[in-house]
Amino acid sequence: MTPDQLRDAVVALGQKPFVAKQLAQWLYEKRETDPGKMSNLPAALREKLAAQPLLTSRVIEADDSGEGTTKLAIRLHDGPIIECVLMREENEDGSARLTACISTQAGCAMGCTFCASGMLGLKRNLTAGEILEQFYHIDALLKKDGLSWLTNVVVMGMGEPLHNFDNLMQALTILNADWGFKFGARRITVSTVGLPDKIRELAKQGMQFNLAISLHATSDKQRTKLIPTNVATGLANIIEAAADYFSETKREVTFEYTLVGGENDSAADARRLAELLRGFPRANVNLIPMNPVEGSGLIAPTTQAVEEFTRILKQAGVNVHVRKKRGRAVQAACGQLRLRLEQQF
Ligand code: SF4
Repeated sequence: MTPDQLRDAVVALGQKPFVAKQLAQWLYEKRETDPGKMSNLPAALREKLAAQPLLTSRVIEADDSGEGTTKLAIRLHDGPIIECVLMREENEDGSARLTACISTQAGCAMGCTFCASGMLGLKRNLTAGEILEQFYHIDALLKKDGLSWLTNVVVMGMGEPLHNFDNLMQALTILNADWGFKFGARRITVSTVGLPDKIRELAKQGMQFNLAISLHATSDKQRTKLIPTNVATGLANIIEAAADYFSETKREVTFEYTLVGGENDSAADARRLAELLRGFPRANVNLIPMNPVEGSGLIAPTTQAVEEFTRILKQAGVNVHVRKKRGRAVQAACGQLRLRLEQQF
């Protein structure tokens, strides 16, 4: 809830409007969901709040990779399962890098062929509350480890964030606001399959989010095969929208490229990608060797293919990172844990 919504809610519960500010501090700043601990709230309000759990979702499985990655399967109140992930890493200076990867939809309508999330279609959008509830579940993991709070957030889990634009914006506004979680916009990355109009709308929000675009191919023919929505958007249009995002916000844009064995991992692909990004202001490419998804018929690239692809991009002056293959043991690729659980129950 925004401050206005919280104010209406506490007034409806018979309280003075200023109580909303105290409640926001407990919920957002302290991430406290037990009304019994909200010591400065009136007892009558605490009692009313305690009548039902403040969180509507619950963790039904926590899978630990043993490599610092924990994936949570979360059941929503009406049945669908979503995923979120906590990644614990170390920066070069030895400080902790704690990243949450969160979902914005139950399932996904985009139907990318390499992704387990899209396999069962879109069930529904998450509400802003359900998007934010993932942080409380992650916070419980952090507290168990004696860790204070996240350093980064990536909106890169299940669903296409820009396909649930209004709820996403409400959730990220609460995450970022001074009256909210106070989480810096520059430490939040929104990842999209590339919806040009929505990318431009995001640029106009006046927020400093990082943008990640899932590119995954270097020609429209090839990209439409992997990402069916590309038929309507087109590669050139997406790259243009990404450039607009950069010029409006001055925030870095990262192009995500999942390397699929024999599909998009050739030297010719690497050269075409370098060509597409020639002249793009401060472009970064994040190469992600694919985690095979059972039943998709797609395979992981060889180590040699990944190395050659990286070499060609670097030679062309592209800023390139190869994502470590983490979390295979916890089925950490998008939607894999949820797919197993949905099929099981
Ligand atoms: S990769 Fe993202 S946009 Fe594509 S199906 Fe998976 S969740 Fe949806």
